[in-house]
Amino acid sequence: MAKKQKVKKSVKRGMILIIILVLLSILGIKFYNEYLYKQTYEYKLLEINYSIDESKILIDNLNDKELNNILGLVYNSNISKLVTEKYFIFSNLERYLDFINKDDSKNLTKIVAMVNVNRDREYYEDTKKASLEDYELMLVNKYNYLEEDYEPKAITTIPSTYAYEGNKINEEVLVAFRNLAEEAKIAGHTILINSSYRDYNSQKEVWESRKSLYGTRQADAYAARAGYSEHQTGYAIDVADFYDINDKFGETESFLWMKENCYSFGFILRYPEDKEKITGYSYEPWHYRYVGKEVAEKIKNLEITFDEYYAYFIANI
Ligand SMILES: [Zn+2]
Repeated sequence: MAKKQKVKKSVKRGMILIIILVLLSILGIKFYNEYLYKQTYEYKLLEINYSIDESKILIDNLNDKELNNILGLVYNSNISKLVTEKYFIFSNLERYLDFINKDDSKNLTKIVAMVNVNRDREYYEDTKKASLEDYELMLVNKYNYLEEDYEPKAITTIPSTYAYEGNKINEEVLVAFRNLAEEAKIAGHTILINSSYRDYNSQKEVWESRKSLYGTRQADAYAARAGYSEHQTGYAIDVADFYDINDKFGETESFLWMKENCYSFGFILRYPEDKEKITGYSYEPWHYRYVGKEVAEKIKNLEITFDEYYAYFIANI
């Protein structure tokens, strides 16, 4: 009897021990899981006031480095909206947030586009030397310039069949334009180049004579400053319709043809209508830029300007 009771007692003790161990391990797992959860971005984001939905959006759209960067910033409800914008660039985040405060529209798509092309900064301030290795994709605008001694690659005289006298352009552009002009002719349009490569000094003359007559503001509205004109790259052309005596290219049938077809030859309409705030230039139906077929078609399909394309697909690597 005594032996049986002893066995019963030790079984009981064993059971209690097992129960205690089970409980402890459940607790342990619970604490461990909690510990692990506290290491997650979700937990850390919730801690600094993001909602579960916002933190999910941030985690889905950002990498580790970017998430850690967000953890160092004060909560801002615009961040989770900005990161889902198609052309969001993380390194511009603080500039987007600043610009939201200055822009009444609060339209984030517009704000991302504007900041990406530096429009949160004044023209000709914070300027950068254009990246010459980009060749036909080099960006020259009111924030990116070419130096006085920049010598464009392979500049050649354009035959009089395709241009008014004295025009020069990059060889590759000439081949592309020739193809374009021939194709246009078949469709009944005679398109000629009336301005193309302009060197630093001729651009300087244009701007300075304007400035001496009307002042800086008027000169800036009329012409690019020396070094900031795309014509200095050797990849830009101004065209005219041979039969358009009024010099209103935008109203000609040739323009409609150009608008529809220039992309297939590697050209883009550089300063489109309603994009003045992005490009910094008034609508110029006559000004085209050679960027190569692939990029021209991409720009056409995405319906963005070259400035936006460059910011997102070239500079943002
Ligand atoms: Zn032009």
